[in-house]
Amino acid sequence: MKILLALLAALCLCFPACAEFDDMEDMDYWYDQLYILSEEIGCRPVGSDNELAAMAHIRSKFEALGFRAENGTLNGYDVSNSSAKDLEAILPAQNEASDILIVCAHYDSAPPATVNGVTSDVPGTRDNASGIAGMLAMAREFVQLPADPDTEMRFVAFTSEETGHQGSQAYVEHLTPNERERIAAVFNLDLITVDIWLEEHVFSVDTMGMRTPEGYVNGSDEHPAHNKVVRAIQAAMQELDYFDPAESGATHCVPRHLGMSDHDSFHFAGMDSANIAFRGNEEEGGSWHPYMHLPEDNLGDLDYERTHQALNIVYTALNGLAADPAYGD
Ligand SMILES: [Zn+2]
Repeated sequence: MKILLALLAALCLCFPACAEFDDMEDMDYWYDQLYILSEEIGCRPVGSDNELAAMAHIRSKFEALGFRAENGTLNGYDVSNSSAKDLEAILPAQNEASDILIVCAHYDSAPPATVNGVTSDVPGTRDNASGIAGMLAMAREFVQLPADPDTEMRFVAFTSEETGHQGSQAYVEHLTPNERERIAAVFNLDLITVDIWLEEHVFSVDTMGMRTPEGYVNGSDEHPAHNKVVRAIQAAMQELDYFDPAESGATHCVPRHLGMSDHDSFHFAGMDSANIAFRGNEEEGGSWHPYMHLPEDNLGDLDYERTHQALNIVYTALNGLAADPAYGD
């Protein structure tokens, strides 16, 4: 009995640090959000009614998780080129002067695409219902944990990524110098799923720069920035033993010097940020998914195992950074 109690105590101590992103319940939630955004709402370009419907859905999911406008934990921010807003859900730390970790994704899709003279809607399942569903799934995990003493978490949904990142720019512009200082790492999820048949695509991160003791420095093609997001993700991959090159035959999470998503907006303001996505491997040239911005970006043959591993890596990295700001350093 004593041994059993000791074991139980050890398990409790282990939680939340050892908690994992569950492959059944958590993935069901992820899939539900993916389905609603890409199948029930569908094509949601900036300026469309569906863009507003996607925003309303995300707001309702944030509210269901307990975030409230009345107490400042659910906020909306105007975006220059859209009547829809960015949405931000805040999970405060116990200590007000805390570090801030951000998980973000864009909910607008590309507009309808014309292929061989036929114009069709773009459901935007991978780009980027997958990222919004992942961001919401992270929020759902972290609201279940006790408030962290010194790490605030923010879950942010941007519009207007496809039109030039106006959503994330508006979000960054509203941040005070104090908030920018406290934002330790920004995890942007854009195309965080992949197809079963697309075996050569790897779990990948794109960065543009990083903080150093000498200040913020730009990365380059030759020397992509191994910023805080990359380091935490690499530590999480090791901890979970996922995407081992010896097993999968491809090297994962090699940071690539690339913008082209909302992490850019944080980079230009001197914050460690990265886009986390499935992308072509290095030998193949690092291409985007062949269905991106096309009508074929629908539910298709998504690989739930690799998607679960990707989300569990993000979850473990966030947990690691919340427990220890030097996680991965
Ligand atoms: Zn995207």
